[in-house]
Amino acid sequence: MNIDQNTIEALVLQIIRMSTEDGPGIRTTVFFKGCPLNCAWCHNPESISPKPQVWWVGNRCIGCRTCLSACPEGAICLSESGVEIDRNVCTGCGTCAAQCPAMAMELLGTVWELEPLVAEVIKDRAYFNTSGGGVTVSGGEPAMQSPLVALFLKSLREKGLHTALDTCGACGREALDRILPYAAMVLFDVKLIDSEEHQQFTGQGNRRILENLVHVAGYVKSHVHPAALWIRTPVIPGATDHAENIAGIGRFLSTQLTGAVSRWELCAFNNLCQDKYLRLGGKWQFEKAPLITSGAMDELADVAKKSGVDPQIVSWSGATRETGNNSRKEADVV
Ligand code: SF4
Ligand code: SF4
Repeated sequence: MNIDQNTIEALVLQIIRMSTEDGPGIRTTVFFKGCPLNCAWCHNPESISPKPQVWWVGNRCIGCRTCLSACPEGAICLSESGVEIDRNVCTGCGTCAAQCPAMAMELLGTVWELEPLVAEVIKDRAYFNTSGGGVTVSGGEPAMQSPLVALFLKSLREKGLHTALDTCGACGREALDRILPYAAMVLFDVKLIDSEEHQQFTGQGNRRILENLVHVAGYVKSHVHPAALWIRTPVIPGATDHAENIAGIGRFLSTQLTGAVSRWELCAFNNLCQDKYLRLGGKWQFEKAPLITSGAMDELADVAKKSGVDPQIVSWSGATRETGNNSRKEADVV
């Protein structure tokens, strides 16, 4: 990647407007593409690869075969189940998506330069100002593209906007330190406290992540308003949803990050991403997993509140089911 400030660029998966889940107020969230982790439950599997990709949206396809002849690599074929992409051959050039008349082929990942990206999010300034919101960088892992991300947040801070870094923490210290001075707050994911389980479900142990978390907490306490560090724990059935995990995370937060965390949110698993795995030609390990019950979330929140942290900082969110069925209940926060 070019790191000359005048031509610096990054690969962005998408820009989501009017988000209420990525920090305070109403926010615009920029999702950068590429993540060092490979979480088995990932709700955005298209964000993991650091390269552009395409996927096929079957219910839009009109079967015209334009993509087959457009592909310079011969990576596309039509089978009984629809369009198939040979991902060992596909370069992510996006020609098929550009020529598909039905928008059934979608390009995942667009290269943005710094100034256009700043100009794009500044458009939303009106609702930042009225809601106490701002801009969040997320992913994927934004620290993987830290040269642009740091300058992006710096530019927004200079314009008086609130900024947030949403990170999985699996990044080099240098990349993190490049971004931290320009993040008004940090949203830090802590998924599993046991390193072997972390390795099993995400592809990496958690030592570097926890070291980075302690570092971020120290930075936040000494440089930023103390309300600027939120921890988020995804509650995933059969993976992170056991009481030992929640209690262990709580002990870590209370002993290693004393006073630095203003919110610890348990985020209930959702099962809305199954189609994404199919579009990428894969299968989702959690496709048959039911939503968590609201009672189970209440119990885990109780475990969190008794783990040593200030109980006031604990909340949970997300769609749940009533015991015995899988129908969705409104998202709630306790
Ligand atoms: S992105 Fe490019 S290489 Fe990949 S399938 Fe489409 S046209 Fe072919
Ligand atoms: S060009 Fe688009 S609509 Fe035509 S076959 Fe390919 S994916 Fe389907």
